[in-house]
Amino acid sequence: MLQTAKKTIQIEIKRQDPEINNGESYNQIYDVEVEDWFTVLDALIKIREEIDGTLSLRCACRASICGSCAMRVNGQAKLVCKTKLSVVEKNNKILVEPVGNMPVISDLVADFKPFWDKFNAVEPYLKPEGEVPEGEYLAPNDDMVHLVGVMNCIMCGACVSDCTVLEVKDNFLGPAALAKSYRFIADPRDGSQFERLQNLEKDGGIWDCTRCMQCVEVCPKDVDPMERIMSLRSKSIENKIDKNYGARHAKSFTDLIKNNGILNEVLLILRTKGLFNIIELAKLLPIAISAQLAGKRPPFFSHSSKNKNQIKKIFKKLEDK
Ligand code: SF4
Ligand code: SF4
Repeated sequence: MLQTAKKTIQIEIKRQDPEINNGESYNQIYDVEVEDWFTVLDALIKIREEIDGTLSLRCACRASICGSCAMRVNGQAKLVCKTKLSVVEKNNKILVEPVGNMPVISDLVADFKPFWDKFNAVEPYLKPEGEVPEGEYLAPNDDMVHLVGVMNCIMCGACVSDCTVLEVKDNFLGPAALAKSYRFIADPRDGSQFERLQNLEKDGGIWDCTRCMQCVEVCPKDVDPMERIMSLRSKSIENKIDKNYGARHAKSFTDLIKNNGILNEVLLILRTKGLFNIIELAKLLPIAISAQLAGKRPPFFSHSSKNKNQIKKIFKKLEDK
């Protein structure tokens, strides 16, 4: 019979119950005897079944398919059914918390309403145009193979939990909803690409992402939400949906590097905000004064790079592609 090693792990769990402690969260530590093949979920289920039946957690398939068991382990979102305890424990201890950026219902169970509201806001269904075909809507194989990467999303919410923008900006659509939006915008059978992109241009849309890569890091299905958001930005600019600050910043940045081989940060701000946009420019005055006082103000007139012609050639190659 196969022998497995056992040891005791301290599992600290962030708990919260609206009926206990005035709804305030508190941490509780459990000493749990585990086997070396245990996942974090195995240990949590053992606590609930053998030590403390009041612990709330959500799980279903236990095979990283259903997306129910996303939680924060040692500060980072993970599917706990896919996370081996031996990989995450440090000195025989781990900390488990509910996912972030969503309200807690009880202990490790979060309320996914904000997640689904944003998901629904991007109209996550095909909106084909033209005549309805007699049979199926057919799409080129290569396009669908490309989309499989996004369709792998199991809607676990791990990316939303750890998105750094959602921590400070509630109305950001977030990585999961934007990746889902990409799934339809990039689908050749969908006829609403332009309208969909126009909606994503607004406050809370694609230009609010700071490219921190947290969503890429924590996604258990390699959906790569950030890359989808960057593709949506490119598609937006290609479609001339580019009058917002985000698109203007991206275009000015590219143009300045392309023409001078070096970034002129003063010109970048002026072109992004608009030379005569006095109100917006005035808002930046405190930053400009702080930078001046700290000796960090970028020069008004920057020189061109001596290698600018080589940089132009790189741009040409990319554009020819
Ligand atoms: S890359 Fe963008 S969407 Fe992803 S976690 Fe960071 S801010 Fe959020
Ligand atoms: S994109 Fe990844 S992390 Fe985000 S909900 Fe989908 S599967 Fe989960």
